[in-house]
Amino acid sequence: MAKIIAITNQKGGVGKTTTSVNLSASLAASGKRVLLIDLDPQANATMGSGTDKRAIQFSVYHVLLGEKSVKEASVSTTKGEYNLVPANRDLAGAEVEMVDLTQRETRLKTALEEVNNDYDYVLIDCPPALSLLTLNGLCAAHTVMIPMQCEYYALEGLSDLVSTIKKVRMNFNPKLHIEGLLRTMFDPRNILAQQVSDQLQQHFGKKVYRTIIPRNVRLAEAPGFGMPVLYHDKHSKGAQAYLALAEEILNP
Ligand code: ATP
Ligand code: MG
Repeated sequence: MAKIIAITNQKGGVGKTTTSVNLSASLAASGKRVLLIDLDPQANATMGSGTDKRAIQFSVYHVLLGEKSVKEASVSTTKGEYNLVPANRDLAGAEVEMVDLTQRETRLKTALEEVNNDYDYVLIDCPPALSLLTLNGLCAAHTVMIPMQCEYYALEGLSDLVSTIKKVRMNFNPKLHIEGLLRTMFDPRNILAQQVSDQLQQHFGKKVYRTIIPRNVRLAEAPGFGMPVLYHDKHSKGAQAYLALAEEILNP
């Protein structure tokens, strides 16, 4: 049975997509069967996986509207060894079009049942909003991974997210829980980052991953080459950090 993880934070630019793409590649490198779902109209996970969003035939948009199955919309990624359900700008329209459909919150969950035995992990890259798209991600998922930058407003945003997760648990998905909090773009020389990191550990204890993702230029430039950092520069600190994260998830 596939384990489904939604990678979520309503705050923009915290490393959701970087984590989705590079964790997918790292889990796949450990021999796991991985499907990455791009649930963001920005389609950064699609482009970062080396798939041209302008050239795709079907996308997660068709899956949400019930026009295509997950299998029909999946493509294999050439660099990364995982499969991808891509996105493009059409997805922004899905939000409006789904409003009138039945069970609009659980459309992704239902669609994923078909591939339950085909994958070990399904990762969902959510958009930076607590929107109907994100709600579909949270309803489909078993757990939530929260990437965050250790800065002043991070903890405030986190309490909004935690209360959203509670609401989803009460209304749609009783077993949903936090998989872990991931410190991203971390600079150990920054005193504020250290303080926020300490507070995070006090509040969330073991829910905070031991693995810390450092700020690393190789991670930022890999999407420009359309590949996970593992294939761009395997020895970079960024690649090694995401391999360590995969290892921590596989052997907690
Ligand atoms: P959005 O909310 O817009 O979807 P996001 O949370 O998915 O953003 P990313 O797109 O992963 O965030 O990252 C934001 C920017 O920071 C990108 O340009 C990315 O390349 C860069 N970035 C992410 N993680 C790192 C890192 N560890 N080191 C350096 N740059 C990083
Ligand atoms: Mg993103």
